[in-house]
Amino acid sequence: MSDRIEYDAKWAYWIDPRSFRMRRVKGSVPIGTIVLLKKQESLDDGRRIVTTTYLFATEDGVIPSTKREVSKNLSRQMLEYMRNRGEYPPFTEISKVFANGNVDLLYHPTGYDRFTVRLTPDLVGEDVEMFLSQLTEPEIEEKEPPWVIEPAKSSRARCRSCGEKIVKGELRLGEPSIYEGHVTYRWHHLKCGVYKIRGSKPTDLKGYDSLTEEQKHETEQIL
Ligand SMILES: [Zn+2]
Repeated sequence: MSDRIEYDAKWAYWIDPRSFRMRRVKGSVPIGTIVLLKKQESLDDGRRIVTTTYLFATEDGVIPSTKREVSKNLSRQMLEYMRNRGEYPPFTEISKVFANGNVDLLYHPTGYDRFTVRLTPDLVGEDVEMFLSQLTEPEIEEKEPPWVIEPAKSSRARCRSCGEKIVKGELRLGEPSIYEGHVTYRWHHLKCGVYKIRGSKPTDLKGYDSLTEEQKHETEQIL
């Protein structure tokens, strides 16, 4: 886990096998981890969508993978986690039990990223349902801090999506990240950042209750 390989991308995450959280890529990723590269694309009709490319961090570099391979990798990583901790991995639930003894877990680290993780009797080395029944639910982990919405306090910050200035008073979205135990924010224009929180409700955003009616309306229109 301590060996890392250099890798940088404007918008990418790696899946931490110790917590199954998606961590933002910042210059390097641990070898052996799954990497999700995100891209925002504009469709001809002007809509913007987010695409995900799946990669795998190896000693020789971060190489292309597929969602199928990623799921296989997750099976192994989750099994190791479950054996070591005696717990279900976070963000995971049983989605299907098959007559042949296979069990599919649904792993959903975010609202947009969902993976089916298959456990087979072969992989587990015993009856999968029996194995799972001995696990405890994950300890309630500290929740990921929420995104923030607020009118920009100054015109100093640049939008981390488009690079343009965010004008004072304009609504901005704060993307949380934890740096040395403290929550810091990367700011985005509301219209730019919204693609990263698709599926969220306005009330999920910290600060929404303090907005004016007009600002709330603007948020609801875009979200
Ligand atoms: Zn922007």
